[in-house]
Amino acid sequence: MKDSISIALSKGRIFEETAHLLARAGLRPLEDPEASRKLVIATNRSDVRLIIVRASDTPTYVQHGAADLGIAGHDVLHEHGGAGLYQPLDLGIATCRMIVAVRNGFDYEDAVRRGARLRVATKYVRTAREHFAQKGVHVDLIRLYGSMELAPITGLADAIVDLVSSGSTLKANDLVAVEDIMPVSARLIVNQAALKTRRASLQPMIDAFARAAGGGQ
Ligand code: ADP
Ligand code: MG
Repeated sequence: MKDSISIALSKGRIFEETAHLLARAGLRPLEDPEASRKLVIATNRSDVRLIIVRASDTPTYVQHGAADLGIAGHDVLHEHGGAGLYQPLDLGIATCRMIVAVRNGFDYEDAVRRGARLRVATKYVRTAREHFAQKGVHVDLIRLYGSMELAPITGLADAIVDLVSSGSTLKANDLVAVEDIMPVSARLIVNQAALKTRRASLQPMIDAFARAAGGGQ
């Protein structure tokens, strides 16, 4: 019997931007993950299935071998830490930046210079802790699960650590980016142990993604 391969993906931005890569890698979901309530989706290849997970859960599924491969943002991977994961490929999709933002009018530079203790709200607690530790800025981190933009507006926090692409959400909420933390894009991730023991079936899939991400040919 053919070795079967599962690929963990999240709905929303990752799936939207991955759909054309899947097609170019010769994979067609038999149901639209955005429309279906199914969390395991068969593909045109009887040996390949898609596992639909929350974006921040993708590395966990692949780390534990519940999925062989996955596609996850660098934001999520950095927060997870990458244990047990091989990251062979930057797919160059879902690109954005991880930034520090504050309310328009809040003098961030001055607060940092004065050594003020900052309240920072984010869902990227680990990334934020590292960033401010490197700068020598003391922070109280407040863990949120979404809509970080609300935190400075409501007085929950002085600053947020979040992703931006166009900047229109920041602007609409009267926030400004004051610091760049890192560029973000989506990566292919592979379970390290599975790659060692099942390279014959997984490597061709990695190669197919590499060709699909690599350009027009
Ligand atoms: P969730 O809301 O569950 O985090 P999203 O679909 O909003 O799911 O985000 C999934 C991934 O897409 C993020 O982990 C990140 O890598 C990427 N992403 C998020 N926001 C943006 C953005 N504004 N522009 C481009 N990519 C983004
Ligand atoms: Mg989101």
